[in-house]
Amino acid sequence: MPVSLYNTMSRNIEKFEPIDEKEVGLYTCGPTVYNYAHIGNLRTFLFEDLLKRTLLFAGYSVRHVMNITDVGHLTDDGDEGEDKLEKMAHKTKKTVWDIAEYYTKAFFSDFDQLGMIHPAVTCKATEHIPQMIALIERLEKRGHTYVSGGNVYFSIDSIDDYGKLAKLDLESLRTAVRDDVDQDSNKRNNKDFVLWFTKSKFGAQSMMWDSPWGKGFPGWHIECSAMSMHYLGEQFDIHCGGIDAIPVHHTNEIAQSEAASGKKPWVKYWLHGEFLLDETGKMSKSKGEFLTLEFLKKKGYDPMDYRFFCLGGHYRSQLKFSFDSMVTAKTARKNVCDRIIALKREGAHLVVLESQKALDYQEAFTTHIQNDLNTPRCLADLWGVLKDDGLSFDEKYSLVLSFDQVFGLGFATLQVPPVEVIDDPVVLELLKKRTEAKLAKDWTLSDRIREELDALGYLVKDTASGPSLEKKM
Ligand code: AMP
Ligand code: ZN
Repeated sequence: MPVSLYNTMSRNIEKFEPIDEKEVGLYTCGPTVYNYAHIGNLRTFLFEDLLKRTLLFAGYSVRHVMNITDVGHLTDDGDEGEDKLEKMAHKTKKTVWDIAEYYTKAFFSDFDQLGMIHPAVTCKATEHIPQMIALIERLEKRGHTYVSGGNVYFSIDSIDDYGKLAKLDLESLRTAVRDDVDQDSNKRNNKDFVLWFTKSKFGAQSMMWDSPWGKGFPGWHIECSAMSMHYLGEQFDIHCGGIDAIPVHHTNEIAQSEAASGKKPWVKYWLHGEFLLDETGKMSKSKGEFLTLEFLKKKGYDPMDYRFFCLGGHYRSQLKFSFDSMVTAKTARKNVCDRIIALKREGAHLVVLESQKALDYQEAFTTHIQNDLNTPRCLADLWGVLKDDGLSFDEKYSLVLSFDQVFGLGFATLQVPPVEVIDDPVVLELLKKRTEAKLAKDWTLSDRIREELDALGYLVKDTASGPSLEKKM
């Protein structure tokens, strides 16, 4: 069954056909490590993990490369503002290297707790300065750059398709050269961007490297072009990020990569994850306070509850965060896990699917996930399997474990808690009396006994095979 993905470049769902059938090249823009990731950032990384898992599920092998931005990302995605890491270092009186190390560790702690698969290559911008300089030199040789006010700029007028990803209107951009360019700016065109800074408005930058244009530091966009091409070649399959990367970051990455190599398209499929919103709109770090995974944990949520919550929305739709919806996700995940634990308790094991019903479920799930990662439909498939009495325990178990290759919710490692033998004669007597009251349809008495048991710390559950007792945690 083919995989189909929405390509931001064409604004269409396209059949996925990798450049080389043997291995898919996947580049995902990594975190800027100047602060904790907020749960909105994590939504984007979860979407990328889902994409990778889907490709693996479909039988591809995937070479995933993700960068760590530890220099060059200014407080504005364009060329305005201070380097985000330098700003945090000044504020906290630490070195930029300490800031980068601390928040990289924090990022991977979140990453692991959310069950994401590590990339084959994780590359730090600060360790790839020679590759960036080499790329800028190639651009310079091909006539795409100019030096102004001490910085090296990419000239968007040196190519004829700038802005194709974001569908920017080139004509109005050209007019902007005359009308809108800030008189103080060193740029010839507003949309030109810095490849290499030697001058920062914010005083001495502590991360600096020698270059043919003077001691300085790279622009943010050149990082991703240089590192992705270094590890995946000059043309590769998929590049991802959040939707905010479309108009500037990814637009500029495409411009400089295609200008340097002369090869088009640089990337075959562009995928973007929509935002997580909070009550006030887009969740962002610049607003000051933001929600982290650690905060959710303090509130009593498991990281997998957040993963489950994200699976409930399609990656191309905005998702609104609220604690009410987290409660719903937590309850639903518990329900799923309880059912899987019950299957394990019954001794369910993995089998080759044979019944038509089981094969139909497998096919439906595959169709839904491979059709542009339709996770809401896939969750419905999961519920369908768990509730279907026409499937054997082994089939159910095999199906949910197969689905979990994509969900990544850790079903295989769910622990079966030991069954606690309840032998307190008072409790057993109460349970017997409640069963008798129910048979006699004396609901008042049966409810009263339930409350008594509850006060003693026991929960009564009425199941198809009769009432059962559970000690409350
Ligand atoms: P950063 O670490 O700031 O570079 O951001 C990491 C990723 O999070 C980027 O791909 C952003 O596009 C993405 N992102 C930022 N804000 C949100 C949000 N509210 N919801 C989802 N993704 C976001
Ligand atoms: Zn990037």
